[in-house]
Amino acid sequence: MADAIAIYPGSFDPITLGHLDIIERGSQLFTKVIVAVLCNPSKKPLFSIEERIAQIRTCTQQLDRVEVDNFSGLSVDYAKQKKAKILLRGLRVLSDFEKELQMAHTNKTLRQDIETVFLTTSTEYSFLSSSVVKEIAQFGGTIDHLVPPNVARELYRCYNKADATTRRPPK
Ligand code: ADP
Repeated sequence: MADAIAIYPGSFDPITLGHLDIIERGSQLFTKVIVAVLCNPSKKPLFSIEERIAQIRTCTQQLDRVEVDNFSGLSVDYAKQKKAKILLRGLRVLSDFEKELQMAHTNKTLRQDIETVFLTTSTEYSFLSSSVVKEIAQFGGTIDHLVPPNVARELYRCYNKADATTRRPPK
């Protein structure tokens, strides 16, 4: 696609191999993929925006066409600001579909010139989510096959820390 910039917005709390798979495949389709971490004041994330950005930068550093940023407000407004015409989203199981379709339609009513493009998950990641990873890590289970190594280290550190209670446990 000629000169197509895609925004991949999300919470990424934390980034998983499922997200990374979408980023890698997206970077082969578009000129640039901007992974945009959403600052959502109504959510209580495990990792701060800065931590999430650093985690994503570390595991995407070999991907030339990928940038990492953060934003607040509407994804379509952020896309416009970045001169991007595409919102990239990943689709897993059927439950994603309803939510994602609603969001895509709503975004279309807000800005007609921005298209949402979905990439279906690779089968091995179809049941993978940030929440599942946090739940496993919290109870000391193996997460090395689910998240990049830098994220696995940080998750284990986070849950083993003496002051882990200062962090909000995943829901
Ligand atoms: P959000 O809070 O916006 O859903 P997430 O970080 O959970 O943010 O997800 C960002 C995007 O990545 C969403 O489109 C989501 O469907 C997609 N995604 C999450 N996990 C996976 C996965 N395992 N495989 C493919 N896409 C995924």
